[in-house]
Amino acid sequence: MSDELQTPLQYVKGVGPRRAADLANAGFHVLEDLLLRLPLRYEDRDRVQPIAQLGAGDLTAVVGEILACGVRPTRRRGFRVLEAVIADGSGRIRAVYFNQPFLADVLAPGSRVALFGKVERGRLGGGLQLTNPDYELLAADGDGDDARIHTGRIVPVYEKAGGVTSKTMRRIVHAGLERLPPAVADPLPPAVCREHGLIDRRTALAQTHFPAPGTSLKDLERCRTPAQRRLIFEEFFLFQLGLALRRHATAAARKPRTIRVDERIRRAALDVLPFRLTGDQRQALREIVADLTCERPMNRLLQGDVGSGKTIVALLAALVAMENGLQVAVMSPTELLAEQHHLNIARILGPARFDVVLLTGALAARARREAWEHLAAGRAQLAVGTHALMQDAVRFRELGLVIIDEQHRFGVIQRAALRRKGVQPDVLVMTATPIPRTLALTAYGDLDVSVIRELPPGRQPVATRVAPEGRRREVYEFVRRQLHQGRQGYVVYPLVEESEKIDLKAATEMARHLTADVFPDFRVGLVHGRMKPDERDAIMTAFGAGETDLLVATTVIEVGIDVANATVMVVEHAERFGLAQLHQLRGRVGRGPHRAYCILLHQRPLSDAAEARLAAVAATTDGFEIAERDLEIRGPGDFFGTRQSGMPTLRVGDLLRDHATMDEARRAAHAWLALDPPQPALDAMVAGWAERFGLVGVG
Ligand code: ADP
Ligand code: MG
Repeated sequence: MSDELQTPLQYVKGVGPRRAADLANAGFHVLEDLLLRLPLRYEDRDRVQPIAQLGAGDLTAVVGEILACGVRPTRRRGFRVLEAVIADGSGRIRAVYFNQPFLADVLAPGSRVALFGKVERGRLGGGLQLTNPDYELLAADGDGDDARIHTGRIVPVYEKAGGVTSKTMRRIVHAGLERLPPAVADPLPPAVCREHGLIDRRTALAQTHFPAPGTSLKDLERCRTPAQRRLIFEEFFLFQLGLALRRHATAAARKPRTIRVDERIRRAALDVLPFRLTGDQRQALREIVADLTCERPMNRLLQGDVGSGKTIVALLAALVAMENGLQVAVMSPTELLAEQHHLNIARILGPARFDVVLLTGALAARARREAWEHLAAGRAQLAVGTHALMQDAVRFRELGLVIIDEQHRFGVIQRAALRRKGVQPDVLVMTATPIPRTLALTAYGDLDVSVIRELPPGRQPVATRVAPEGRRREVYEFVRRQLHQGRQGYVVYPLVEESEKIDLKAATEMARHLTADVFPDFRVGLVHGRMKPDERDAIMTAFGAGETDLLVATTVIEVGIDVANATVMVVEHAERFGLAQLHQLRGRVGRGPHRAYCILLHQRPLSDAAEARLAAVAATTDGFEIAERDLEIRGPGDFFGTRQSGMPTLRVGDLLRDHATMDEARRAAHAWLALDPPQPALDAMVAGWAERFGLVGVG
């Protein structure tokens, strides 16, 4: 079967070299690329009505000739109305556009046009009119191809791609479909199609773009038609197949040496434990230790909300590895966090037991070289650090366990670089970003997951309020009362890259204002990412020691900072933060025995999405719920903003909308694999898998 779907777009009717280049820029190279891009939505242009039969309130399509078109000034300055008169055999109607005078050039008298929109009774004159209708110019000869493609049916509406408009796209897709033979190459095994009631691929492509008359618009919108479902299933099946194969490959790997846990090691762990573990912590630790003592390398994600106590669990795992004579690397996304981990770990382990080195970019050359030597010789058992850990010069004698904190901040390549410093080391990645249940299986498909949901005892949820700028004075009063009780607080400023300078200035200015005018009787500090590391450290250390009462900070404090006496946080410009980010920030307070508060100060106007975000943060402190809400507000495409979040790149499917199909596809993929399909078939199906889905695994 020749594969027409792989036809370069340039050879499709309506696409010349110029348009092909334009489409290539937008990521479309061959016909299949276009056909596997689902329409944004559909319009029912099935019922073209004669103009004479229109009534006010109708949602309609009319086709006719433009008789006249002109711009009419109005009494309101700068407000112009464009009017066109359209006639078909039965009558004529006005189309009215507000403030789009350029349309005068488009809707030229004499051209044939299709209009879609709502029929209204005009305010002046009283006749019927179409207000701001969608329009499409048709080829001059009444019953040409064009009219057939764009009217009298349910038509697809596409997102613009490069300079290619929805209408041109529709024409190209139509032409592309026409050149397809009756059957096209299908990546799915026929047995799978039969079993899951999937229609053939050729029909699915055609009907997805040009649905048969009578297809339910509702089904189309939800992507539930048999045609759409088939394409989505196909994508999910291949995705799940690749995932399963990857899992098998990992399962086949063997560690050079497995870890043992005996009574002595248990005692050692108990000895360092500063508190009783929660049930969830104990369960997570059990799962991790089971992995450590297994011959296969561990590939585990430890997921737990901010403050849930992941660090101690990771540290106990590290202890087990070190007691077995293995080295451990702990990688953090920021220097601040690395330093904090370093302090904590050194404190908990006690001075004599193991040698812990810190490796960050801030380290002086000599100290760094010393740390390298200790690690290479095996004199240091544990390295805590940032990206600096991944440098080539960093060598371990026997790296057995890699722990990665806040994993969503690292890319797959970075993690792979660290992992390669050992021979099949165990890998534990930790994240405070709760992956909604709906996505967990997909997102971390090749990781085992441990979850800590329970917070350490005595924690009360942080009371969260949303307050507009106008209530600033009350907010300050509230903060003042907290400070008077001996508590500490944060004032957080957003710092977005595009306006970093301005934001930094605002934060600096605010610190000055708070010091001089608002809290002259308290000690106010300022910390931001642009400071020299030692300067920043000094300020953080002072705050941790209670020498500062109020800390004005940019989002450098987002991750991991742990000051139990801090009970109040004011977030400035809360409307600018993402949901997950607000949740992370809030996790900086409420880490001790005192009741804690978070006040989200916002400016107006407030967009609907921003309002929804603030409401969601105020409504719950459950990170999982927040993640679900985030997903609803933003959609999975945007989830966490980056590809590094580990979400696969999907063309037709949508993790949230189609999760039932994803479940079905997973079962189908596993069932098919169980039949032991021939290797070449498998290879062909998953060729290019990783690039296609852009999935981030442990690496
Ligand atoms: P995260 O999961 O956000 O990394 P941490 O590991 O930093 O959380 O723990 C948050 C705080 O809770 C730390 O101060 C830690 O010492 C404390 N903590 C953790 N587990 C317990 C526990 N079981 N009992 C009491 N305090 C705990
Ligand atoms: Mg942490």
